Amino acid sequence: MRISFTRFSTYDTCPQRYKLQYVDRIPVPTAPELHFGSAVHEALRFMYDPKHLEIPSLEEVAQAFINAWQAREADVPENRRQAFFEQGINIVRRHYERHFPLPEGRRVAATERFFNIPLGGDHTLNGRIDRIDVLPDQSVEVIDYKTGRTMPTQPMAEKDRQLAIYRMAADQLYPGHRVTTTFLYLLHDFPLQVDHSEEFLEETRAAVAEAVARIEVGDFDPNAGAHCDWCPYREYCPLFRAPVVPDDLREVDIGALLREYGEIARSTPTSTHARPSRSKARGISPSGGPTSASRAGTRRG
Ligand code: SF4
Repeated sequence: MRISFTRFSTYDTCPQRYKLQYVDRIPVPTAPELHFGSAVHEALRFMYDPKHLEIPSLEEVAQAFINAWQAREADVPENRRQAFFEQGINIVRRHYERHFPLPEGRRVAATERFFNIPLGGDHTLNGRIDRIDVLPDQSVEVIDYKTGRTMPTQPMAEKDRQLAIYRMAADQLYPGHRVTTTFLYLLHDFPLQVDHSEEFLEETRAAVAEAVARIEVGDFDPNAGAHCDWCPYREYCPLFRAPVVPDDLREVDIGALLREYGEIARSTPTSTHARPSRSKARGISPSGGPTSASRAGTRRG
């Protein structure tokens, strides 16, 4: 099995989302933030392309962003297009003015570098690294661009599996070179550098291998958490589509409920319209018995 970093990351976050996205292949719209991120990545890829014979001008790089954005903006809600566009142009321009061209001695070895790490058996882990630089001391820096607003703390970055996987890939691509890894937060213009321990790299390798094994046996249990708030598959997720009846409602004593409602009905002779609707809300038919819906509800769980 070939697993990409993106797929592994999806499975690691929630196996059920992995199933809905990659096994069931349910189509969902791409988030506007992803379109924005892709357009910025494309402009930076053009900027740092080591195949350029001449250093590209700021106008050329800005045009690369404009082209990439225009290819995607139709899929972004109209009321958000201008803000994304302006932010993208500003990021690209500021990055160019502050960091381009690279300092003497540092060179770009590759952009969008594909990698393929053997995991044992028929399994491999692949992905693409945004940029790889070689430094004057011949060490290698792996750079991953981030366009989001939220930046992790240093300890969180050190436990991030993405950079750990890129480090493993660079160790394989540049044997014998010292490798460092960096999340480059473009909005903040801040490089978050991480030097992983061997122990964490081993732990990451084991986590990927375990995910592959679980995918192969169809283990797709949902993993609910804060990430559900922005999960695009929420409406298809069994946890949200068919909520479990809470424990305190499973053992409903219908007789007691009817007696309680009988008391209320006798003590409130008016509001003839209100009584049936309240009964319906609790799943009680006008005849006093549970509705088919409420019977189904009490059976569930
Ligand atoms: S809503 Fe939450 S539990 Fe359901 S698929 Fe999405 S991330 Fe997983």
